[in-house]
Amino acid sequence: MSFVIRNIDKVIVGDGKVLSNADIYVKDGKVSAIGAGLTVPENVEVRYGSGFCAMPGLWDTHCHVQSSGGIWGVDKDMLPEAKAIRAAAQAEPVVLSGTTTLADAGCDGNISFALRDTIAAGIVRGPRLLICGYMIRMTGGRAGKDTEGEVDGPDSARKATRKMIAKGVDFIKLGATGAVSSPGMKQWSPQLTLEEITAACEEAHKAGLKVHSHAYGDEGINLSIRGGADVVVHGITLNDENLQLMKDRSIQLLATLSTYKAKLPYLDKLPRWQAVKHIQVCELLEANFKRAVKAGIDVVAGTDSGMTFNYFGRSSRELDYMVEMGMTPAQAIKTATISAARSFGLDHETGSLAAGKAADILLVRGDPLADIGVLGKAGGVAQVFVAGRLVAAFDECGKEIG
Ligand SMILES: [Zn+2]
Repeated sequence: MSFVIRNIDKVIVGDGKVLSNADIYVKDGKVSAIGAGLTVPENVEVRYGSGFCAMPGLWDTHCHVQSSGGIWGVDKDMLPEAKAIRAAAQAEPVVLSGTTTLADAGCDGNISFALRDTIAAGIVRGPRLLICGYMIRMTGGRAGKDTEGEVDGPDSARKATRKMIAKGVDFIKLGATGAVSSPGMKQWSPQLTLEEITAACEEAHKAGLKVHSHAYGDEGINLSIRGGADVVVHGITLNDENLQLMKDRSIQLLATLSTYKAKLPYLDKLPRWQAVKHIQVCELLEANFKRAVKAGIDVVAGTDSGMTFNYFGRSSRELDYMVEMGMTPAQAIKTATISAARSFGLDHETGSLAAGKAADILLVRGDPLADIGVLGKAGGVAQVFVAGRLVAAFDECGKEIG
């Protein structure tokens, strides 16, 4: 299957370059060539890009597909099979909104595996899904989860990581500290030890997988960095030492601004323990983010969708928040394209529009470099291609067509 999109007003390549009046030639799911006035074989289908801006498909590098945005504990008695069906229903609006790659950052049982594989098989309409299986965490580290993935000591962390790799995960996720969304612990408390983090990272890196480490507080962030994590997730309270170490080692920050911002209007509906922790984080959120950006840390977009009041289907709001906090639209787009791909070691395969990379393409009405908000507007995203396949097209009002 091949086609060419002719005369696209503007192409945001994703590596900082912007082309005008360019064509994109797609062959066998990949970008074959990109540039003005491309010569292509005669039988190739022609699409028209005039009036559109093209850009790489967006990434949301952090969500929880087994959850739905309900209040903590509300679905604790729901069957795993029901959660899997709900996960499939939630995947569709994600891809329709222009997110072509989504990552699940911790899931019980086989739900994320089943969703990934049914999307890949074309049974479920959704974005490419990357999964980590169970989060590797200390025993008792996260309330409400079953015990798979719980570890005690470096040998146990090594074994749990090896088990996830053998199951076919796409990356490894660590729970290095306490969490806002789990009761009975401070989010700032270190949980995994340096030895446990190091053992898990060694195993992941041997298998060529990246490690995302959930970490709040100076100490847990520092242990994640020194233990070898590639991405600090949340990263609230980044002190100077940790910022310098992240910069020196090219460690990325996955800031998940959305998950804190989404809950703010609903604090009175949250359990008190959760509301208190939220306020603590939100007080630090913006200054922390700005400090990281100023220090030159490579930021990655992820929403933590699935957490309380944080629903699936508009991952680009993360970019809106980044721009509100001082990034340019171009910087924000980078966090959801090439930087996001790098956080999984996939930047040589996708994440920008270049010959040989997956044809994950959005055609957008309006210019996201001038107004990042067009990505979340009804009808802003006009066409969504995943690996060269047109997944959805929308009219100016956002109604699905074709
Ligand atoms: Zn999360």
